[in-house]
Amino acid sequence: MRYTIDENKTVSMEILLPFNTAHCFIDGLWQPSIRGNVIQLRNPSDGTVLCEIAAGDEKDINAAVNAATTALDRAGKEGSGGARWGSYTALERGRVLSRMGQLVTQNIELLAELEATDVGKPLTQARADVVALARYLEFYAGAADKVHGETLPYLDGYTVYTLREAHGVTGHIIPWNYPMQIIGRSVGAALTMGNACVLKPAEDACLTALMFAEIARQAGLPAGALNVVPGTGEVAGSALASHVGVHHLSFTGSVEVGEKIQSQAAGNVVPVTLELGGKSPQIVFEDAVLDEALPFLVNAGIQNAGQTCSASSRILVQRSIYDDVLNAMAEKYRALRVGPAIADYDLGPLISGMQKQRVESYFAQDKQLQLIASGVIVDEAHTGGNYVAPRLYACNDEHHLLAQQEIFGPVQVVIPFQTEEQAIAIANGTEFGLVASVWTANGARQMRMAKRLRAGQVFINNYGAGGGVELPFGGVGKSGHGREKGFEALYGFSTLKTVAARHG
Ligand code: NAD
Repeated sequence: MRYTIDENKTVSMEILLPFNTAHCFIDGLWQPSIRGNVIQLRNPSDGTVLCEIAAGDEKDINAAVNAATTALDRAGKEGSGGARWGSYTALERGRVLSRMGQLVTQNIELLAELEATDVGKPLTQARADVVALARYLEFYAGAADKVHGETLPYLDGYTVYTLREAHGVTGHIIPWNYPMQIIGRSVGAALTMGNACVLKPAEDACLTALMFAEIARQAGLPAGALNVVPGTGEVAGSALASHVGVHHLSFTGSVEVGEKIQSQAAGNVVPVTLELGGKSPQIVFEDAVLDEALPFLVNAGIQNAGQTCSASSRILVQRSIYDDVLNAMAEKYRALRVGPAIADYDLGPLISGMQKQRVESYFAQDKQLQLIASGVIVDEAHTGGNYVAPRLYACNDEHHLLAQQEIFGPVQVVIPFQTEEQAIAIANGTEFGLVASVWTANGARQMRMAKRLRAGQVFINNYGAGGGVELPFGGVGKSGHGREKGFEALYGFSTLKTVAARHG
C-alpha cells in the first residue's frame, strides 16, 4: 500500500499486499471463505470502500479450529513436511516469535499505513502500534523458555512437581481500535505457551491482522498454529465463542458482547479472559507538578480519538487548582486538529458513521455540563469521513451520564473534589475499573491512593507508563477479568498440571 499526499493534503492510494484481502488464513493457506461471502471495508477518513474482506462463518471457524487442533498433534507432520507446532520446544517457539518480531519491524511503514488507513488513526500513532507489536513478540520470544513449573515438598516417598502446559486451541476475538497491539499481547502470549490460535478480527478494521498472518507464514510458523477468520461478530465471532473445540477464549471489546462471550464460554466450561471498557480517572492534587501532568491529562483522553479502552475520560481536580487546570487543558484543546489519518493530525476520524452517531448522541445529552473548549476539524477533512471535534467539559456532577458511561470518543469531563476521601469515592464511583492515575508529590498519599483505587493498573505521576508490554493489564468490575501483557499473560494462556510420583 503506497500513498501520495498532494499539496491539498488529498491522499491517493495504491494497495500492494502479498495476499488477497478477501481471503481467510487457515491451515497456513490463504483461501476464500467457504461460502464465498465478503464484507466491504471502508476508509474512516473519507468513507470510500478500501477493499473487500472475507465474511467468515461457522464453516470457516470450524475449518480453522480443525487446523489448529491438527497443528497441536505432536506426532504428525505439517503439509510442507515440517514438524507440527505441538512438537516445538519452548526454545523453538521463542525463535519463531523472534523472527516474527523482526519481520514486523522490517514492515513498519506498510503496517503503519495499513493501520492508519483502516482504523483512521494518525500515522504517528499507527507507527507506535507497530513498534509495540514488535516489542510484544520480542518480549514473549525471550520469555518462551523461562516459564516453568515447581517442585513441591510433599509426603515421604513422593516427588511432586507442576507442569505449565498449553490450553490447546485458543480463540481470540479482538476489536478494531488497536488490532496490532491486541494481537501482540494475546496471540503473542498464546503462541509462546504452545497454543494454536484462531483469531477473529473486527469487521471494521482487520488488514493488519491479515498482514500479521502473512508475516507469521513468512517467519516459518507451522500451518495451523495461527488461523485468521474475518467476519461479523454475530456470525464468525459467535461461532468461535461457542465452538466445542476451543479450550480458552480471549475477548477484547465491549461489555455487552463480553457478557455474551462469557455465557457462551460457560456452555463449554472454558476459561475466558475479558478485556472490556473503562471510564478511567486521573486525579490531580494541588501539590502536583502541573507542567508534567498536563500533556498526560489531555493526551490520555484524545489518543486514537478517545477510542481507547484505557482512555482517561475523567479528570478529577482538587478544588483549589480546578480553574487553573481547566484553563490549561482548554488551551491545549483549542490547538487540537482533526483530519485524515494519513495526513497525521492530532486526531483522525472515528471508526464508523455509527460510532460518530453514538458519540454525538452523548453531546446531545450534555445539558447540565459546561462546554469549555473544542478542537478543530481541518478544512481538508473529507465530508464522507467520520470526524468529531474533541470536547472538554466542566462537570460538577460525577453521576452525570457523560461522567459515568464509556463514550469511546474524544470527550473528557473535569470534575472538582475537595478531599482525598472524596477523590477516592468519585474515582471508584463507576461500574468500571481499568486504569487510574494519581498526580501528587505526597508519597504517603501516593501509597494510600494506589491501594484504595479500584483499578487493574494505577499510575503515580504518569499515565500509561509508555504502553508497558511488561506490565500486567486488565480490569475489575465491568472492565473485565483476567490479565494480559507481561509474564502474567503466559500464566493465563496456560494451565497447570500437578504430577505426584510415589517412589518409596
Ligand atoms: P465490540 O464488542 O462491538 O466488538 C469486539 C469484537 O467482538 C469484534 O471482533 C466483533 O466482531 C466481535 N463481536 C461482536 N458481537 C459478537 C458476538 N455476539 N459474539 C462474538 N463476537 C462478537 O467492541 P468494539 O466496538 O469493536 O470495541 C470497543 C470496545 O472495546 C470498547 O468498549 C472498549 O473499551 C473495548 N476495548 C477494551 C480493551 C481492553 O483491553 N480492555 C481494548 C480495546 C477495546
